[in-house]
Amino acid sequence: MDGLSTLPSDAAHDQRLLALSEDLLGWLGPDGLLRPANPAWSASLGWTDEQLRAMAFLDLVAVDDRAAAGAALHAVAGIGAAEFDARARCADGGQRPLRWSAQAGGSDDGVLLAGRDLTELRRLEHDLQEFAYTASHDLAEPLRMVSSYLELLQRRYAGQLDETADEFIGFAVGGAVRMKALIDDLLAYSRVGSREMELGVVDLAVLLDNVVEGLERSIGQAGATVEASGSLARVTGDATLIAQLLQQLVANGVKFRDGGRPALVTVSASEEDGGVRIDVADNGIGIDPAQHERIFKMFSRLHGRDDYEGTGIGLAVGRRITERHGGRLWLDSEPGAGSTFHVWLPGAP
Ligand code: ADP
Repeated sequence: MDGLSTLPSDAAHDQRLLALSEDLLGWLGPDGLLRPANPAWSASLGWTDEQLRAMAFLDLVAVDDRAAAGAALHAVAGIGAAEFDARARCADGGQRPLRWSAQAGGSDDGVLLAGRDLTELRRLEHDLQEFAYTASHDLAEPLRMVSSYLELLQRRYAGQLDETADEFIGFAVGGAVRMKALIDDLLAYSRVGSREMELGVVDLAVLLDNVVEGLERSIGQAGATVEASGSLARVTGDATLIAQLLQQLVANGVKFRDGGRPALVTVSASEEDGGVRIDVADNGIGIDPAQHERIFKMFSRLHGRDDYEGTGIGLAVGRRITERHGGRLWLDSEPGAGSTFHVWLPGAP
């Protein structure tokens, strides 16, 4: 603090400082009117300062995002701060995606606001998306060629070359199979981002039945039990994506079992914070708390292929699915005892 207080602090100095920010800084009076504090508002949205000062903040927000922004601002009064995404209307009729941080302004019942333009971030996300799709899609074709000829070689010439040759071909086939799994998962990852979401009411009990049916073989082979605990709620979401998420979490619970006890995966759901929290609990090997964030990254795995098969993409896809729904995915775990993955999805059932 001492360092800060030695800086000059007259109004002109503050103005220049605020003008350096590309973020839209300002505050809302108790009347809801906007008080822009720097030129970033005009620069990014095209309205004049005068026009902005005559606007209620919520009028600046795009119609479709107004209800959510209003609710977030309302929450600021209660909890002191909020963060929300809402598009802003531009003077030229366009819109810009922004992430807003709002904080209760203190004595005058106002709200301090900072808006960060997400246009560039969204563009980069889109490019990355396209890259992942094209790369995985284009790789699939030559790989099909490699795999089919390797398999042909294996079928026709097994036992005719020497033993070492058979072994080499076996390794090559194994490599091609793994590469296919990686490419399929990468495609799944890119599809989650590009898919149009079809929101509807999803019955979790029905979904879990389907998931268990789809995983019947691996559940059977593992001798695992997968069951619902209590009644499962309904959630609002894209049924295909939510099913994919649930399937991933249940499959992981079965896969990362502890050999010392029969695997048990329990799924439950409860209402929380105006949405629904789904818990997928297992009694498996557990995850060291230091790794809890790492496992959601692409390709990150805590185990070698020899211990557990996999590509390390599943949870990255899961996180993406929850983010697309405006929800969250996190976990609690006790290494050696088991893990519980939590999914929170907005929207009352
Ligand atoms: P994959 O299962 O293909 O390895 P995931 O993205 O699904 O990829 O998981 C990443 C890593 O997180 C796994 O390799 C594993 O180390 C750890 N993990 C995920 N789920 C569990 C679980 N239920 N119990 C223990 N470890 C888990």
